[in-house]
Amino acid sequence: MTEQTPSLVLPETERTRHRRLSEQGSSSRADLDAVLKAGFLCHLGVVVDGTPMVVPTVYGVEGDTLYFHGSVASRSLVASPQATVCLTVTHVDGLVLSRSVFEHGVNYRSAMVYGVPRAVTDPDEKLAGLRSLTEHITPGQWDYARRPNRKELAATVLLALSLDEASVKLRSGPPEDGDGPDAELGVWAGVLPLNATWGALEPDPLLAEGIAAPAHLTAREHQRLG
Ligand SMILES: Cc1cc2nc3c(=O)[nH]c(=O)nc-3n(C[C@H](O)[C@H](O)[C@H](O)COP(=O)(O)OP(=O)(O)OC[C@H]3O[C@@H](n4cnc5c(N)ncnc54)[C@H](O)[C@@H]3O)c2cc1C
Repeated sequence: MTEQTPSLVLPETERTRHRRLSEQGSSSRADLDAVLKAGFLCHLGVVVDGTPMVVPTVYGVEGDTLYFHGSVASRSLVASPQATVCLTVTHVDGLVLSRSVFEHGVNYRSAMVYGVPRAVTDPDEKLAGLRSLTEHITPGQWDYARRPNRKELAATVLLALSLDEASVKLRSGPPEDGDGPDAELGVWAGVLPLNATWGALEPDPLLAEGIAAPAHLTAREHQRLG
């Protein structure tokens, strides 16, 4: 795989041009990278047999490419290389509780990526892409757990989606009606933050005695996600 230097600004296309709430839009490639790095779950939107399907799935990123994978029997994945997909990643950071219900909102970081995914068939790239995906989700696990064998690789579809056409939106901070007429209402307003945190490891009840959890997993216990 050739590594490319990602450009600093996201090119705007007719699809990615922010329209509603455009003040929350960002054209920074660094913001896109940060949103993608902070998560591992995306929603893949693709039209299958004329009907939109929005499928939650995990992803990994390597340079300018986002990888996602699944079973060769997955309808959404099989349809994707023939179709333009829209893939989203969303992080919710809090509820914005304004004085009026109309002004309520969400503090968030989100990304949308458009494109026609490429099915990765080259065995070396497939293995490298699966490694990127695994390491993006659980750093250290590719070298720790058993890697996929030939039969498992044949049962797996790996798709590569370019980050060439992507957009980012971000909102943070308090409600925006603190200096309006509703400020007189005496209603509490502010933000209810939301933080996702990893819990304590739960060993498999069938785990043989004497197998300790590796350091790359214990290090993540109680760590904040994203
Ligand atoms: C957790 C969460 C909750 C939200 N709740 C609401 C809600 O209840 N009501 C509401 O109106 N809006 C909500 N939004 C904002 C919403 O995602 C859209 O940004 C907004 O509604 C504009 O939608 P639109 O259909 O007019 O798209 P347009 O403004 O026409 O979108 C144009 C282009 O902008 C980009 N874009 C749009 N939205 C996003 C996004 N969120 N992230 C990255 N790129 C984007 C895409 O490339 C898109 O093709 C929420 C966002 C998040 C993340």
